[in-house]
Amino acid sequence: MTKVKAYGAKTATSPLTLIEIDRKDPVADDVKLEILYCGVCHSDLHTARNEWKNTQYPSVPGHEVVGKVVAVGNKVTKFKVGDFAGVGCMVDSCGKCGSCHDGEEQYCDNGFTGTYNGPVFGGENTFGGYSKSITVKESFVFKIKHSEKELASVAPLLCAGITLYSPLKHWQVGPGKKVGIVGLGGLGHMGVKIASAMGAHVVLFTTSKNKMQDGLKFGAKEVCISSDEKEFAKYVGQLDFIVNTVAMPHNLDAFLNLLKKDSTMALVGAPADPHPSTQVFSLIFKRRSLAGSLIGGTTETQEMLDFCAKHKIVSDIEIIKMDYINTAYDRMLKSDVKYRFVIDMKSFS
Ligand code: NAP
Ligand code: ZN
Ligand code: ZN
Repeated sequence: MTKVKAYGAKTATSPLTLIEIDRKDPVADDVKLEILYCGVCHSDLHTARNEWKNTQYPSVPGHEVVGKVVAVGNKVTKFKVGDFAGVGCMVDSCGKCGSCHDGEEQYCDNGFTGTYNGPVFGGENTFGGYSKSITVKESFVFKIKHSEKELASVAPLLCAGITLYSPLKHWQVGPGKKVGIVGLGGLGHMGVKIASAMGAHVVLFTTSKNKMQDGLKFGAKEVCISSDEKEFAKYVGQLDFIVNTVAMPHNLDAFLNLLKKDSTMALVGAPADPHPSTQVFSLIFKRRSLAGSLIGGTTETQEMLDFCAKHKIVSDIEIIKMDYINTAYDRMLKSDVKYRFVIDMKSFS
């Protein structure tokens, strides 16, 4: 074990501060990364503040990790010292169940191990990417084909990117499909870029008038300010698929009514409190479906990184210093981020 500097919360109400954690020295199939950049996901905030009521403390968030390989175990074959590599939301899973077998470890029957906050069904805590280094087994480490100067903007692909890529692919988004993306935050802006690159006609629904031009720049063909009832009504029954990224409880019926017959809205946003649940009639009249989707597995995460490299897709980011994190969280709650904060890990020692 090696002592490593990190930023973490000691309780749900305390700000994140400098702490020290233990990191495993790499053996067998482990890869040790010096962390260069870590994206700031809204899930980090939900966890640090115990909004999902399952946080283990101290909590060191961060699951959009990009770094440089500084050591490898003797069984590692995919990585060598000096490579750039990424780590996303998971660091382990049972490896035996059907989902793990299919490379969809996020749906592991026995619960995957989160990069932070430990196994989903309970178990020893894990510490995330707001730290100087991390040791992860190579099957949960990803190759990065983007250029070195893009590394900071690649970090958010490891959660925001894959969380949108996975449902867009699962529900077969592509040319001829009209796809709604709800919310232009970290997840949403990746959704607009990726769905457009897949060839879909993207309609962005945002509550923020000042994000309209950016939505178009990211590839949306149309932008609707969701509070404008007249504009919103134009989309009733028009969409083939919706991904909803909103991090707060809101009226799902309004969005379900935008779907065509037999179409689906997938929820990826995970608010701390439930949505108002009145969606029966919006579902039964047109045999619509309300679904959910969780991040993406290791196979699909590598596929998404390669897809984004090929289509020149990165995240639009604001680079911050580590000690800005508490302010960044407050700004994220006001939807005041264009479009992902990324921590420069060289900014603290
Ligand atoms: P984010 O950057 O804060 O973006 C959320 C966006 O939702 C905001 O930018 C805003 O977009 C919209 N929004 C916020 N408050 C709203 C409200 N009251 N009414 C309507 N729209 C509102 O967050 P994120 O990092 O993208 O994460 C979004 C959610 O997904 C979080 O709950 C996070 O935990 C969850 N998540 C889920 C997965 C998964 O696997 N399913 C993975 C990662 C994250 P506009 O300004 O455009 O309206
Ligand atoms: Zn995340
Ligand atoms: Zn499994």
